[in-house]
Amino acid sequence: MSTGLSAALPGSGPEPYAVSDTVSGGRRFPEPSPNYRSEFQRDRDRIIHAAAFRRLEYKTQVFVNHEGDLFRTRLTHSIEVAQIARSIARALSLNEDLTEAIALAHDLGHTPFGHAGQDALNDCMKGYGGFEHNLQSLRVVDELEEKYADFPGLNLTFETREGILKHCSLKKAAELGDVGERFLKKRQPSLEAQLTNLADEIAYNSHDVDDGLRAGLISVAQLNKVPLFNDQFEEVRRHYPKLSQRRVIHEVVRRLINCQVVDLVQTSENMLRQHHPASLEEVRNRSHPLISFSEGMKERNLQLKRFLRNSLYRHYRVHRMTVKATRVIRELFQAFNEDPRLMPDEAQEKVLSLRERSGPAGQARAVADYIAGMTDRYAIAEHERVYNPRELT
Ligand code: MG
Repeated sequence: MSTGLSAALPGSGPEPYAVSDTVSGGRRFPEPSPNYRSEFQRDRDRIIHAAAFRRLEYKTQVFVNHEGDLFRTRLTHSIEVAQIARSIARALSLNEDLTEAIALAHDLGHTPFGHAGQDALNDCMKGYGGFEHNLQSLRVVDELEEKYADFPGLNLTFETREGILKHCSLKKAAELGDVGERFLKKRQPSLEAQLTNLADEIAYNSHDVDDGLRAGLISVAQLNKVPLFNDQFEEVRRHYPKLSQRRVIHEVVRRLINCQVVDLVQTSENMLRQHHPASLEEVRNRSHPLISFSEGMKERNLQLKRFLRNSLYRHYRVHRMTVKATRVIRELFQAFNEDPRLMPDEAQEKVLSLRERSGPAGQARAVADYIAGMTDRYAIAEHERVYNPRELT
């Protein structure tokens, strides 16, 4: 795609393997270059001004928004991912602006109620092409945000869109054109996309430990059986034997983040030094990513993930919420897809136009878009309004 993008601005990575404005694949709809910002700063700024970004405040990962004010939401999660990713990008002389843009946008397509919501919506969409949250994030920035006079969506650069699409099925990849190509050809995304993906993992593993402890669903005694946690815990205890439990936990969590970041930077630095790709093209053509944890850290990470899956995500209190969330999503989809006139006018118009284009699959897609855009509390309220005759509409 021809771009007409401007010369490199400060903030673009100086290394030949970093993404910069000059090597960008450009925007779907050509635009004049920004005056005082890099192309990727502009992407980040558009994401921050998006409605879908604001809604992240009321969407959750593990806990539901009204369960407590201290838990992470998708918004605070995205900001934490951006913080971690930017630090790594700077340490590796990669493009910080692009990294930040990808991090802030990576969860824009998430349904209400975290993974439970996504699985439920995917189930509802089985006969209509399925529902994948990564694809939905791309759909949000490519089509669903309606703000600009000259184009649909946010018209982001190829590199930001590529980073948002962390994974997708091969069937979908074939329909996506430029951003889908790498899945078919088994190529890699930019280093900035690779690192943001791992920054996401570092962020959620660490903050789920923190939130899980705060909610009382997991205990320090349980976590002490997980080596990655226990090593940090012992160190904090050794240095600060009299510290309060709350501060001990924070000290452990910050060390958890730090040791993973340090491991990732050092391992990746070594790989970059060893392979020294001479261009972005060489990065893309490799069969394996160049941004990675060490083997030891991968194993320790896996142990922590396994623990979180068994003890936190499958805890009966989380499971109860999961089951309720699934029911809300499924019933909303059933009601709206059976009778789209139950939906607000604006959503009905989308149903009409997508149905005209793609029949029943188009109608179902418009219903899924409407549900996916809801916050946790809006979905609960909408479910009440649709199903409870005592509830005013
Ligand atoms: Mg995430």
